[in-house]
Amino acid sequence: MSSIFSNGFYKAVFDACSDAIYVIEPQSSKIVDANTRAWLDLGMSREQLLEHSVVTLQNDVENEEHWEMIAAEIIKADPFTFIGRHCHQDGTFFPVEVYTSVVEFEGRQLFISIARNLDLTTSQREEFRTKDARLTYALNEAADGLWDWNVTTGEVFFSPQLKRMLGYLPHEMTPTLETWADSIHESDKTRVLDSLDSHLNGHADSYKAEYQIRSRSGDYIWVRDRGRVCQRNEAGEAVRVVGMCHDITHSKGLEEQLREQASHDDLTGLLNRRAGYIHFKQQLSYAQRYQQQLTVCLIDLDHFKSVNDNYGHLVGDAVLAHFVGLMRHTLRKSDSLMRWGGEEFLLLLPNTDSESAIKRINKLKDEIKENPVTLEGGELSYTFSAGLAGYPGHSQTFDGLIKCADDALYRAKESGRNLILISEDNRNVE
Ligand code: GH3
Ligand code: MG
Ligand code: MG
Repeated sequence: MSSIFSNGFYKAVFDACSDAIYVIEPQSSKIVDANTRAWLDLGMSREQLLEHSVVTLQNDVENEEHWEMIAAEIIKADPFTFIGRHCHQDGTFFPVEVYTSVVEFEGRQLFISIARNLDLTTSQREEFRTKDARLTYALNEAADGLWDWNVTTGEVFFSPQLKRMLGYLPHEMTPTLETWADSIHESDKTRVLDSLDSHLNGHADSYKAEYQIRSRSGDYIWVRDRGRVCQRNEAGEAVRVVGMCHDITHSKGLEEQLREQASHDDLTGLLNRRAGYIHFKQQLSYAQRYQQQLTVCLIDLDHFKSVNDNYGHLVGDAVLAHFVGLMRHTLRKSDSLMRWGGEEFLLLLPNTDSESAIKRINKLKDEIKENPVTLEGGELSYTFSAGLAGYPGHSQTFDGLIKCADDALYRAKESGRNLILISEDNRNVE
């Protein structure tokens, strides 16, 4: 597409401008034209840039619908200024202050957006080197969102960056403490407000909290929020509190993933032995506190080595997954199954005595019998043996219960496998 400038001189002025200029079609958000600084800043050719629209270029504009709202806001405000981020071809972001005005050109309504790259520190940007400008930059454009709370009036200044972090436009978010407090996730709210109170009352040096906050889309993001009272009245009461809020959703996601990996088994998704120990101890102390029964069951697949030897390790894995799938299907919500070792599982049945536990595990056994593993060349049946011990009957301790269940499992194996035995009770329940 050729430039909309018919006059070569103005085209030269356009290209000589030290800020990026975009000519945008309001309806489609398409970039109709852009000057040299624009495509240089974005690291693409002019032709590449003209294939884009604001929606495809601007990370802060989520979709066409979001653009429609922004466009309406621009027309209403004309001119409209906001602080956002532009994305370079290499994937990095740089902060920009975008000044958009509406023009009529040959019967067409167009937006002229002038984007100032706030990262530039060349002599052109010398003014940003002054103390005040640097402060403004740090407060508004840094990755952290600033808030400034006037405790007396309840008003809060939310920086454009903070609003952007939560998906709001510059004119949105009522500047009150309620706006913030109402957006905190219910499960975090009391803790966060207590932490703020504790600082206001002088019990803590500063306010620090990590919590989930609702963004404009309704989704929650994780933030790390820090603040400090910067002004108190003569009575020592907080008058002004200033703080920074940082988006930590990404690192929280990784943290969660690592926690999941550390506590769960990859193949079956069950709790692994280490996490299983902790869970078992919790279940046991619950049973102790509420004087309930708890049945512990160790399950081991029979002759599993020969499954691997005859069919291969992958089929072995499929059998383990099949077993866990059927168990999950049959267990109650309160029951928990853990991968205790290779082909050995620990099942906890809270509020269940050994007799009813045996009935339920027998049901599982029937399920497995009726639903063999489907292989390419046919079906594969397998069995398991199990040893049961009940709290408080067989033992009152964690180690004792495991030992009793393990002895019973050993006897089940010794007695020919495919058996479910209760501790010290040599009864074959098949
Ligand atoms: P028993 O009836 O006495 O329990 O005999 P078994 O063959 O099941 O017991 P053994 O302890 O001799 O062998 C267990 C086998 O389970 C050996 C090991 O290679 C296999 N195994 C353990 N973990 C996995 C796994 O994740 N995938 C597969 N495919 N095999 C596993
Ligand atoms: Mg086995
Ligand atoms: Mg085993």
